Amino acid sequence: AKRNGRQRSVFYEAGLGDATPEKPDPAAELAAALDRGEFTVAYQPLVDLRAGRTIGAEALIRWQHPVDGNRPPDTFIPLAEETGLIMEIGEFVLRDACRQAVRWVQSSSSPADLLVTVNLSARQVTDPTTVETVQAALADTGLEPHRLTLEITETVLMQDRDAAAANLDRLKAVGVRIAIDDFGTGYSSLAYLSRFPLDMLKVAREFVDGLGRDDNADVVTRAIVELARALGLRTVAEGVETDEQHRQLAELGCDFAQGYLFSRPVDAETIMALVAGESAE
Ligand code: C2E
Ligand code: CA
Ligand code: CA
Repeated sequence: AKRNGRQRSVFYEAGLGDATPEKPDPAAELAAALDRGEFTVAYQPLVDLRAGRTIGAEALIRWQHPVDGNRPPDTFIPLAEETGLIMEIGEFVLRDACRQAVRWVQSSSSPADLLVTVNLSARQVTDPTTVETVQAALADTGLEPHRLTLEITETVLMQDRDAAAANLDRLKAVGVRIAIDDFGTGYSSLAYLSRFPLDMLKVAREFVDGLGRDDNADVVTRAIVELARALGLRTVAEGVETDEQHRQLAELGCDFAQGYLFSRPVDAETIMALVAGESAE
């Protein structure tokens, strides 16, 4: 009620603290948000389809803007990428993810397969400092390298193949794992599957979405799971929303699944309870 009584416009509020309140500079706003601690990390459970339990989570950045509320990553990741601030934001997510995963391992009665996945942007994939950033995050938190999986889209891999390949080889040497995100949706070639040191394929939501309704989606999903199996890679189905999709993916032999059927991305305390609680079953 108090807030409504104020005559100050939202526009003016948004400009508070900026050098030019009439025209906030989005890049400066992003940097300030990082300094002010407006970013947090949400975790979406990763469900082991055979064991039927949560075995980890994907880390997803969240920006709680003081005026606009939650700003989805799609609205600011491209700008962060353009300005280079993604290196700092990415490190923030990486460190939080490693810290949380250590807590899961400590509190779980069956921690053997626990893992956390973190998205890498284009710049992180090709920048040579990323390897040191990852190593430092692991060393400072004490997370075992094999528990960290880095997610990279095929489009990003194909942008600067030589730099990406060199970096991925160095990351593999550190002991972390690599997943292809949104597999099957990018402009890519199957040749890269043998060229890059991969561990996991994430079946894009658009295929999972069509399961049971669209014959092509069924065929493509089956082919991806079989291709992954033949290459010795594990599979994660993304965006699982229905029991029918869940059933079909389990039947196909897909290893892991994520989606609103199981849980939306949740905060650190909630994922902690899910991982620890369900492991104790
Ligand atoms: P993504 O990596 O493909 O992440 C999956 C997105 O799908 C997430 O959206 C997640 O909340 C959403 N999702 C999960 N399950 C379902 C479902 O069952 N149905 C539907 N409709 N959606 C589902 P979010 O968190 O908004 O992230 C969007 C994208 O932003 C991510 O896509 C990723 O590309 C990027 N992103 C998020 N966090 C980071 C980060 O820390 N670093 C980088 N570089 N990119 C990030
Ligand atoms: Ca992802
Ligand atoms: Ca994805």
